[in-house]
Amino acid sequence: TSFGFRTVPEDAKESLVKEVFDSVASNYDLMNDATSFGVHRLWKDSFVSGLKPGRKGPMKCIDVAGGTGDIALRILDHAREKYYDRETTVDIADINAEMLKEGYRRFKKTMYHNTPQVAFHEANAQEMSKFPDNSYDLYTIAFGIRNCTSIPAVLKEAHRILKPGGTFACLEFSRVTNPVLNSLYDQYSFSVIPVMGTVLAGDSASYQYLVESIRKFPPQPEFAQMIRDAGFATGKHEEGGAWTDLWGGIACIHKGVKL
Ligand code: SAM
Repeated sequence: TSFGFRTVPEDAKESLVKEVFDSVASNYDLMNDATSFGVHRLWKDSFVSGLKPGRKGPMKCIDVAGGTGDIALRILDHAREKYYDRETTVDIADINAEMLKEGYRRFKKTMYHNTPQVAFHEANAQEMSKFPDNSYDLYTIAFGIRNCTSIPAVLKEAHRILKPGGTFACLEFSRVTNPVLNSLYDQYSFSVIPVMGTVLAGDSASYQYLVESIRKFPPQPEFAQMIRDAGFATGKHEEGGAWTDLWGGIACIHKGVKL
């Protein structure tokens, strides 16, 4: 069966997304590794190291849609290993309790467990009222924003909770512009991934949803404009600054600074 994603009305999207992530939570890492051949790890590494957390002193960070803690752990490791910083903090926010549980389980094995450096929050990226205005130096969201019903609402909340001068950074699947690479990528996504979902996780529909959600996400220039519309300054695309494609646009990093 398929979720029939293309016909799901927007107000049903949240419960669909919840269902998908409930179903994939415990297999999430395995499937990520299998479907991307481990590449998601490299992308996350370059995403976080490009943000240089800790370079200018301890930072207050929030990782939204932070689920399994992948990004938060990299932020804390980077700050500690590069800058001997044990004061940077990350709040992990996710709408899904099952994904947060996976994150908690993972952090339990680290030195950050039971320290003020990490905290978990069940929260919707579109409605972050429990987080005060102007309170974070860095807001990250990795492979999360395309699952949200309203991207402008997410960006508005990101802008509100960041301090002036704070950075918004997003890692997301994006558009491949090279037609040859794009056709290979399409074949891979629509035939191989759902099969892997069945074999490894007993669940092809969730992975089908993930693939379809990638295709619906706005292409790089449109998304960069949405970030500017929310009040952030981005680099100029002509100067190579508005976004950074990874693997020809399979994934992409967007950044903005709150003015
Ligand atoms: N950031 C992690 C990573 O890079 O591995 C997890 C990414 S996972 C593909 C997407 C996450 O977005 C899931 O944990 C899901 O629960 C969360 N999510 C979906 N909709 C959300 C929303 N409206 N607000 C907050 N989190 C949401």
